[in-house]
Amino acid sequence: MLYPTPIAKLIDSFSKLPGIGIKTATRLAFYTIGMSDDDVNEFAKNLLAAKRELSYCSICGNLTDEDPCAICSDETRDRTTILIVEDSRDVSAMENIQEYRGLYHVLHGLISPMNGVGPDDINLKSLLSRLMEHSEIAEVIVATNATADGEATSMYISRVLKPAGIKVTRLARGLAVGSDIEYADEVTLLRAIENRTEL
Ligand SMILES: [Zn+2]
Repeated sequence: MLYPTPIAKLIDSFSKLPGIGIKTATRLAFYTIGMSDDDVNEFAKNLLAAKRELSYCSICGNLTDEDPCAICSDETRDRTTILIVEDSRDVSAMENIQEYRGLYHVLHGLISPMNGVGPDDINLKSLLSRLMEHSEIAEVIVATNATADGEATSMYISRVLKPAGIKVTRLARGLAVGSDIEYADEVTLLRAIENRTEL
């Protein structure tokens, strides 16, 4: 079935989103056309604004609309602890439980020997320079997911940091193997951080 160009293009755009096949993309495109002008304008505006106004914090790598991000600039946070996560969604999950008061470092990926992703391919160098510049940092909590790549990343970080005299801990195994921190419930996450173990 050949659609008029504007809707064919819209279908094409939707189909570029993860998990959206051509059938769903077609359904979304037709749905969008049926929406009110106001809603479509708002949608388009939000897409552009999110892309234009967001960037990554130059200190911790978290997604932010100001640099440094709100967490890095918050003087009331505990500056002796850094919690390392894979991406910004994990920061949100941690912040939601309102228990952790330290700082973060977002890796934007994990070391993955199977996929040829090494330490230089993720946001790790800036962590090392952070640690060198800030001697007040006493503990690094590795909160990568309990997957093979999460473990490889955690082991690498511990191997590099421990000789430098920094305490490296790992979230407790309350989290099921292969489970995502992003989707962990609050109680599980709270227990995982309270019962963290030294590497
Ligand atoms: Zn930051």
